[in-house]
Amino acid sequence: MKIEKAETSRRGMIDYSKLGFGKYFSDHMLIMDYEQGQWKEPRIMPYQALAIEPANITLHYGQCVFEGQKAFRGIDGKIRLFRLDSHYKRLVNSSKRMFIPVTPEKEYKDSIVKLISIDREFIPVEWGTSLYLRPFIIGMDNTLGLKVSDKYRLMVITSPVASYYDEGLNPIRIHVNTEYSRVVKGGLGEVKAAANYAASLYATQMAKQKGFPQVLWLDGKEHKYVDEVGTMNIMFVIDGKLITPSLEDGTILPGITRDSVLKIARDWGWDVEERRILFDEIRDSYKRGLLQEVFGTGTAAIISPVGELHYKDEVMIVNNGKIGEKSQILYDTITGIQYGKLEDKFGWLTVIEDEE
Ligand SMILES: *Cc1c(COP(=O)(O)O)cnc(C)c1O
Repeated sequence: MKIEKAETSRRGMIDYSKLGFGKYFSDHMLIMDYEQGQWKEPRIMPYQALAIEPANITLHYGQCVFEGQKAFRGIDGKIRLFRLDSHYKRLVNSSKRMFIPVTPEKEYKDSIVKLISIDREFIPVEWGTSLYLRPFIIGMDNTLGLKVSDKYRLMVITSPVASYYDEGLNPIRIHVNTEYSRVVKGGLGEVKAAANYAASLYATQMAKQKGFPQVLWLDGKEHKYVDEVGTMNIMFVIDGKLITPSLEDGTILPGITRDSVLKIARDWGWDVEERRILFDEIRDSYKRGLLQEVFGTGTAAIISPVGELHYKDEVMIVNNGKIGEKSQILYDTITGIQYGKLEDKFGWLTVIEDEE
């Protein structure tokens, strides 16, 4: 690993009282290039602009995958990285689907740990804040001919962040989208490809103009089944049961927060179901007074309660617009593990040692 340290720090530019999400970046970034059929040695260097040719293939055709994961400053001052292995595996899956070469595991993991260690001073301390890591891979060929790229660049940048939504743990209003599709069966829904986000922008912007921060995505074919909420997986508590769409159709991103919630819930002996969910079933449960909680799960917000669902002319107010009991305890448990307050019983954390 080659390391070039920044001469001046960007830390003075950060307003820790107004972190927001993804506005500030740490001093260093990681770069690993793929050329002539192999990955080169990882390089850690000062965060800086890239020189990219206008003919860069990714700018035109979007052969690009990414990840999003977090490191936390614990209540004991130790730094913990959450589920490094799961994020690595998902990056590999996404890469395969986009025909990007597989990143070598040891180099990837070691250099991420090193990057966090070097920029440890950027990790905020307050509960709910963290260092967000954004690994991504882009094609680096310069050509307008549509093809799979021969050269690639993996980069990791890191950003001190607060809560993803301005609303924090306050329940959000959701517009149920019955017009547009983000993904379809056979498409890219089960991988973290930039293209899925491009496909989501128009409908999300339409919803925002009507005052809804996010949309509920129904299946891309019939708009009947529940897929995801915004850029999160969705969960329902119906009559005491935790229910979430299953992954088997390949239209749903296998969220690591989703997986963490399911593992915790099953460990506690909750009634858990992963299956297809008709949106009509949600409306029906609501009418019968059985829809107790709705929430999104994702690395950025961990748990994001849904307070209102707007479907055509209907408005469903969930749990009086307040965070539910199960949502709250899941949030407390996952953050408790992340900040070292609760035991890491599932082995999800990598403790980042101090630099010598
Ligand atoms: C990243 C992502 C999620 C959440 O995954 P986590 O691993 O929990 O952060 C959910 N849905 C989509 C579409 C995503 O891209």
